[in-house]
Amino acid sequence: MSAAQNNSYDVVIVGAGVSGALIAKQLGLAGKKVLILESGAGLPSNNNDFVQRFYQALAKVPEIPYTPDLFNPPGSFNLADPSKLNAARPTVLTLDHDNWKDPNQSYMIQSGPLAFGSTYERVAGGTMRHWLGTSLRFVPNDFKMQSQYHQLVDWPISYNDLEPWYGNAESEIGVSANVADQAYLGIKFPPGYKYPMKPIPASLVDDAVIKGVTGTSFQGTPLVVSNTPAGRNSQPYQSRRVCAGNTNCIPICPIQAKYDPSVTLEQALNTGNVTIWPQTVACDVVVDGNGRVSQIKYLQYQTPGGDGLKPVSGSVTAKVFVIAAHAIETPRLLLMSTNQGRTPNGVANLSGQVGKNLMDHPLYLAWALMPNPVFGYRGPLATSGIESTRDGSFRSQRAAFRIEIGNEGWNFPINDPYTTTTDFINGLNESHLNPNGTGQPQALFGPDLVKALNSNLRKQFRLGFLVEQSPDSTNTVTLADEKDNLGLRRPKITYNLSPYTRAGLGAAVEAADQIFDQLKAQQFTQPPKANDPSALEVPVKGKPKLIKFFGSGHIVGTYCMGTKKENSVVNSEQRSWDHSNLFLVGSGVFPTVATGNPTLTIAALALWAAQTIKKDLS
Ligand SMILES: Cc1cc2nc3c(=O)[nH]c(=O)nc-3n(C[C@H](O)[C@H](O)[C@H](O)COP(=O)(O)OP(=O)(O)OC[C@H]3O[C@@H](n4cnc5c(N)ncnc54)[C@H](O)[C@@H]3O)c2cc1C
Ligand code: SF4
Repeated sequence: MSAAQNNSYDVVIVGAGVSGALIAKQLGLAGKKVLILESGAGLPSNNNDFVQRFYQALAKVPEIPYTPDLFNPPGSFNLADPSKLNAARPTVLTLDHDNWKDPNQSYMIQSGPLAFGSTYERVAGGTMRHWLGTSLRFVPNDFKMQSQYHQLVDWPISYNDLEPWYGNAESEIGVSANVADQAYLGIKFPPGYKYPMKPIPASLVDDAVIKGVTGTSFQGTPLVVSNTPAGRNSQPYQSRRVCAGNTNCIPICPIQAKYDPSVTLEQALNTGNVTIWPQTVACDVVVDGNGRVSQIKYLQYQTPGGDGLKPVSGSVTAKVFVIAAHAIETPRLLLMSTNQGRTPNGVANLSGQVGKNLMDHPLYLAWALMPNPVFGYRGPLATSGIESTRDGSFRSQRAAFRIEIGNEGWNFPINDPYTTTTDFINGLNESHLNPNGTGQPQALFGPDLVKALNSNLRKQFRLGFLVEQSPDSTNTVTLADEKDNLGLRRPKITYNLSPYTRAGLGAAVEAADQIFDQLKAQQFTQPPKANDPSALEVPVKGKPKLIKFFGSGHIVGTYCMGTKKENSVVNSEQRSWDHSNLFLVGSGVFPTVATGNPTLTIAALALWAAQTIKKDLS
């Protein structure tokens, strides 16, 4: 690959994830010349390479289908050394109690005190390649936490401002849902609005939970199960197939019934106005004497790394620049860009807020056996959730949460069906399902083995509580001393959970206990193992309890939008306060993480930014 020097475009976008792809498509359709710099591999000619990599992998973690290979040599159990990779990214495989702080294994330099458990991709199509597809709107009070509950902060925009863009985003992604199910907690739709496709049918697990909780409440909040709006096809849409229901949405949908941004990237390229340069890492945002961004410098590499090949360097100029590199790589790039000391704290950072307020939805998993079979593993990974707990007056005291009803047995919490199957074959008891009267687990075979597996696997289900994390300026992305193979400083993460968030997690534990009791389900949730970096003490019924929390993959808040340039990085247009031709998009702009999965809101905001950029250019 040869690097073209001094190329000039109307718009240069850094990052080909959903936010970058949507903006590129809109600008391409408007006849603007757009270049996307993408640090990862380009679009594959078809999905099969990724699918094959997933099939052959032993560790079916979210990152496994995608490049660069997590292991070196491929097929071994040695995690690749991130300092030898050109565009490395984190993996959940480094969240063990042994290796989470090892810079030779963990790309992100984790300085604790808690482990940051979410990961992201470096591949055209971005992190959304391995998303689940959940496409919820935020509820109106999510945008006004301070005025409504005297907690956290308000957004500079309201639900009503964003509403039309939600509709556009649902059409671009292709969301299956219906308005009646989604009109809760103040969410309003324009008259006659219809989602692009009818809802994905509820699973048998959902039906059992609906029967068990309908008409009941938790701490005064009614428990209402709602169908989950999904970025997956319930009917043919955008030339893609209908969901076949085989429970593999994370990490990859083999038939692309689930939306991923490669769909939008193809449409962007088809406008004839958009170009993507893969394997091109933006490494310096250059600001001129008038405070405008004048160019972005990049490094282009040929292979994933470790081969001694030098990258080719170059720069591109444009009228407008958009950074859409997600909430860890965007602040990393801004902080790296010091302009020979003219922007010593990085670009777009006069407020000092770049890299601050890192958030996620800390996830509490609780799992149980139903009294009767509920037949998980049929349909997508999740098709319904309890959304009524996302808002209420309790938010003045503790964080809210949504409750995802898992449809994949105990796959997420204990890697089933493998763990339970191995237990009953080998006489082990990792799943806690194979104790026997003598205290020794049984090793079974033949009909006894089949009976034991049938009896247990068909009754398994889990709940996932996605808790709203407060924005805390002490949770940060900064630059580590450790570098990648391109010589660029890697991201350093400092992460903890506030009392407000911990109180929300404590309430989640109580809600899980209550719901399992209502369902007459036998709970198997396990406490964290010794030295687990994700072990956390939370208040449950007034007493401290040690639980394990997971990352949700919802990385948010590191270049927040606000009403003043003193305390925020971008304004409500997602335009840098400091550089008028620089837009920062993605979930990094969210002032709060709220309670819904972020991507529909990311997409809505990206489409809004595209319109503003179009106006700027005309
Ligand atoms: C397991 C998992 C499940 C998820 N499920 C859901 C879900 O169901 N619903 C939901 O709403 N959200 C979900 N998410 C979150 C969702 O994937 C992200 O919110 C979304 O992908 C963010 O999109 P983005 O375009 O902002 O960033 P990304 O998708 O991360 O794209 C950023 C792009 O920028 C590129 N890049 C980075 N740095 C540079 C650089 N210096 N130069 C050039 N390019 C660069 C990267 O390679 C990447 O392609 C999930 C996440 C995970 C991990
Ligand atoms: S259930 Fe299967 S076909 Fe449907 S979206 Fe998930 S992976 Fe794709």
